[in-house]
Amino acid sequence: MEETNGTISPVGSLTHRISYLPSFSSIVIETKDGTIAVASAFPGQQEAVRDRDHKFLTRAVEEAYKGVECGHGGPFGAVVVRDDEVVVSCHNMVLNNTDPSAHAEVTAIREACKKLNRIELSDCEIYASCEPCPMCFGAIHLSRLKRLVYGANAEAAIAIGFDDFIADALRGTGFYQKAHLEIIKADGTGAVIAEQVFEKTREKFTLY
Ligand SMILES: [Zn+2]
Repeated sequence: MEETNGTISPVGSLTHRISYLPSFSSIVIETKDGTIAVASAFPGQQEAVRDRDHKFLTRAVEEAYKGVECGHGGPFGAVVVRDDEVVVSCHNMVLNNTDPSAHAEVTAIREACKKLNRIELSDCEIYASCEPCPMCFGAIHLSRLKRLVYGANAEAAIAIGFDDFIADALRGTGFYQKAHLEIIKADGTGAVIAEQVFEKTREKFTLY
């Protein structure tokens, strides 16, 4: 399956969207019902979405730092948001829980489901400091989260020694094509602060 990457920035937007539609060579916005819109939202509206995304992504990045400071695990954070409220804000708990599956996103999904007392999160969004790995992307898919916003590219984590399987989740797999969620990759400041996490914490944790 072909995948396209690119940027839409009619108003210098923070994010670009990744299209998984093979027939499109440029970036489009695909809404949940499958209709296609080319970056035509009102500039004011786009800006509001960008600011909102930046706010919650920053929170996920803060969690990534917090997790390392606490010695809980690797430098990854994730936040589940419903409407404009943070449901849970979590970080990687692999070391703390002695659990290789306790990635930030999985932890956030588990905690959000517990908190909301249900097994689907279709009215929620997830903000992740880094591009989700296949396991986390699977959990995002299974929990029916409606939207994913992530900060750093998987390469930023791979560059400091994390397993390169991370990049497999969103690229070149059938999984991605099946997922009915909106996926946003942060650009600009959002991407920068998310990628800085790795270099700034590198000396503070041990790779596992
Ligand atoms: Zn993961």
